[in-house]
Formats: sequence, C-alpha cells, structure tokens
Amino acid sequence: MPATLDAVIVGSGPNGLTAAAVLARAGWSVRVIEAADEIGGGCRTATLTLPGFVHDVCAAVHPTAQLSPAFRELDLAAHGVEWVSGPVALAHPLPGGDAALLFNSLEETAHALDEDGAAWRSLMEPLLDDRLLDSLLRPQWQGLTDAALPKMQFGLAALRSAEGYACAKFRSARARALFAGCSAHSSLPLSARGSASFGLVLALAAHRVGWPIARGGSARIVEALARIIRSHGGTVETGQRVRLLRELPASRVVLFDVNPAQVAAIAAGELPRRYAERLRRFRHGPGVCKVDWALSAPIPWRAAACARAGTVHVGGTLEEIARSERAVADGCVSDAPFVLAGQPTAWDATRAPAGQHVAWAYCHVPNGCTLDLTERIEAQIERFASGFRDVILARHTMSAPALEAHNAAMIGGDIGGGANDLLNFLFRPSIRWNPYATPNSRLFICSSSTPPGGGVHGMCGYLAARAVLRRHGDRAARASSLVL
Ligand SMILES: Cc1cc2nc3c(=O)[nH]c(=O)nc-3n(C[C@H](O)[C@H](O)[C@H](O)COP(=O)(O)OP(=O)(O)OC[C@H]3O[C@@H](n4cnc5c(N)ncnc54)[C@H](O)[C@@H]3O)c2cc1C
Repeated sequence: MPATLDAVIVGSGPNGLTAAAVLARAGWSVRVIEAADEIGGGCRTATLTLPGFVHDVCAAVHPTAQLSPAFRELDLAAHGVEWVSGPVALAHPLPGGDAALLFNSLEETAHALDEDGAAWRSLMEPLLDDRLLDSLLRPQWQGLTDAALPKMQFGLAALRSAEGYACAKFRSARARALFAGCSAHSSLPLSARGSASFGLVLALAAHRVGWPIARGGSARIVEALARIIRSHGGTVETGQRVRLLRELPASRVVLFDVNPAQVAAIAAGELPRRYAERLRRFRHGPGVCKVDWALSAPIPWRAAACARAGTVHVGGTLEEIARSERAVADGCVSDAPFVLAGQPTAWDATRAPAGQHVAWAYCHVPNGCTLDLTERIEAQIERFASGFRDVILARHTMSAPALEAHNAAMIGGDIGGGANDLLNFLFRPSIRWNPYATPNSRLFICSSSTPPGGGVHGMCGYLAARAVLRRHGDRAARASSLVL
C-alpha cells in the first residue's frame, strides 16, 4: 500500500463499499474506515434472538439490489450472493380474511385483482421498460430524454399523492390497499405529492425482478463487496469512528458514506460555510421501530396465501394506512400502525433451525421517537394472524434511537438517508449539478443522502466513484455514458 492512498472511504454501508469496489477495480489504492465492529451499515445480519436464528438487522428485501446496474457490473453473484424468492413478492391481508397479492407476474397480479386487474395492467405495462427502471436509480434530472415516453408517463403518476392516485385509478379496497402499502415505503403521508412514486417503483420492481432476499442474510451482499475490494488490494478497517478529517490517513480523495450533517462535522473548516450549513440543515425523514422474532412455527395468517410471500404489509385498508402515516407526519404514532413485515424463512430455510422460523416487522415513527412499539406491532399482526403470539420464542426490539446507536448515519432512525419529499427526491443533499462532489475537490459524498436515495443498490456509491474517477483522471470512466 503506498504512503498516500488514492481514496479513503468513511463508512462501510453498501454505498461506501460499492464506491470502494469501483475505485479499487479501477486500480486505485483504497481504504474503508468503519465505526462499527462489523462492516455493512444498514445491510448487516446477526443472531439477535436465539442461537441458530439469523436476522437481517436492517435491510432484508432486495428488489433495488437486483435491479442495480452497479451490482450487475460488479457481479455479486460471482462473489457469493444468491438471490432467493418465490412467486408472491408481497401479501397484504385485508379485514375479512382475504388478502391482496403482488405476484412477480403482472398477469397473475392483474388476474387476482379482479375488477381492477385491467387498471393495474394498464398502469404497469407501459412502465415495465428497462431504461426507465435503470434511470430511476440515478439522479432524476439527468438523461431526461432517454426513455422519454415511459418517463413522462411515470412522472405524471409518480408526482401524485398515493391516496389520490389509488382512489382515482382503482375501485376495489383490495387494489387500493395494495398500492397504498407499497407507497407507504416512502415514509410520507399518503396525501403527500410524490408518495405514489414508491408504490409505482416497488410494484414495477416486483414485476421485473421480484422482491428477493439474499440466501443466508443481507450480509452476504456487503461481504461480496468487501471481497471485491480486497481482491484488488484495498483494505477495510472496522472499529474506528472518524471524527475529523485530519484523523484520516493521507489520501487524494475522501468519500463519505455518512449523513450530510456528519460530513459537515468531519470536514469542519474544509467546506465553504454556506455549503456546510446546507448539509447541516438537510431534512431527515421519520424513524422506524423494528422488532425481530424467533418463531417456533410460521406466522399463522388467516389468509393462507400470505404464508407464500416474503414480505407482508399489515395495516388493513388504504384509509387505515393513510391514518397511520398521517399520524407519524403529525408527530405521533397510531394505536394501529401500518406494519411492514417479512418472513425470510418462507424462502430461505438457512435462517433458522429446522422447522423453526424468523420474522421481522417495523412501523414508522416520528424521527427520534423513543417509544417501544413491540406491543402495537404484535397486536396488528395478531389481528390478521390470530395465535401469532403463541409461536414467539424470543424477540429483539430496536427503537429509533437504538437504530441510530447501531448506525450513526441513520439520524433519529431515518432509514432512507433523508426525507423523501419532492425536493430531496430530486436534489439531495443539496441543489448541485453533481450531487456527489462537494465544493472541495478532494471531498465526495456517496451515502444514500445522494441520488437515488435509500435502499441497498450501491448506486450512490457507484455514481460517486464514477464522479471521482472523472474529476481525478480516469479515461475509461470519462468514456462511459454513466459518468456525471
Ligand atoms: C430497519 C431497516 C430496514 C430496511 N429495509 C430495507 C430493505 O428491506 N431493503 C432495502 O433496500 N433497504 C432497506 N433499508 C435501507 C438500507 O439499509 C439503507 O438505505 C442502506 O443501508 C444505505 O446504505 P449507505 O451505504 O448509504 O449507508 P449505511 O448503510 O447507513 O452505512 C453507513 C455506515 O457508516 C458508518 N459510520 C457512521 N458514522 C461513521 C463515522 N463517523 N466513522 C466511520 N464510519 C461511520 C456506519 O456505522 C455505517 O456502517 C432498511 C433500513 C433499516 C434501518
């Protein structure tokens, strides 16, 4: 390793590791420095409950990873990642014992949606365009002319509120609830403009690649990235919290896989005052409270079809989900919160001892909310799966502050790298042509607080690394159409 490194990357989340992998492959000497004792940030896997039960601590379901051009280029499969999924990406139990199902197959989904099947098909079909899906994982204002028609169709729908759009488009409670649950991943009130975008993207992702999980746990993804870095001579160091730039080893550039306020604090004095102030004022989204369970049996869903899905949205009708997400925006938590749940052992038996299971669930809470919502989350699941509590062997709960303690980049438990309002959606962390470059030509941001935002896809890291290569001289990158 040379005395002066080419790049130091602060933080080993999926974006930091992707940035390091891209640079290392380009022949750069890189070192990743991570505060926690393990790599991976929001993509770690651990034994949280009982021996033999394997839990994804944060990210668990990976449509964006499977769609990611970065992960495709890095060929994670060749480095040990195996995606597993079943035909039902998502189940959404409804009051009355029925369930709406999002199949990987558009045809099956439309068929199951009955009276709204044609509306679902006419919404999704024109948008199932690879160029559109690819462009959604990049800064939205770039490449506007590629796939112009599907992009325009997408934009017109995506800018709507999920509530307004679902009610205008669908007649049945079933289709409305299905769309509302997907849209609620935005952590926005369903009445907010732009909340429909998440419903569209997640449904399209299901119809293109499903909502897979990684066999053995999400950590396989970051382990693969670390393997790539090391195979090109890079290093990854854990247990070192970076507080100031001057603590870092000498390097040509530094990439930050942390939140904008942390960048401003670590790079104090190295960034123009106004830019640093914008980073400090970056808007974060709500937090989450998450529970993981070790179970003696599968969750006993009343609607039997729910047992086949990797993800289950538990919150009833569109109106109930809207009330729950509205409450969070108003600074409180509903007594019956909208719960996003997962049952990895439905697809991956390696996660628990034979015949036993793991499951997880979280709900949105106001940023920094200290409430432990285990009781309310379990009550919601019990509502649609009576007897659920009887199969719980052990549980592990993380409130929003506990999540921030687990990963300092997730301020107040914000899992999306920032609020998903329209301004942040278009321009994060601030309005700049190249969002990854700071006004200091040595310093770059590569976390999910840059486009395309939250999720395990590595695209923030990938695009930041390409921006570094472009600015600091790499002919291959300059020739690529992906370069900013
Ligand atoms: C409960 C939960 C569920 C989620 N579910 C999903 C899901 O199912 N699918 C999905 O795609 N996404 C999901 N996400 C979101 C996903 O985890 C994040 O979007 C993703 O991890 C962001 O990656 P990143 O590399 O930008 O940052 P992070 O993963 O947040 O990594 C940042 C890293 O920086 C380190 N760090 C912080 N401060 C310092 C410092 N001062 N010095 C050194 N290192 C530092 C942190 O320890 C961390 O390792 C979920 C998140 C949570 C919390």
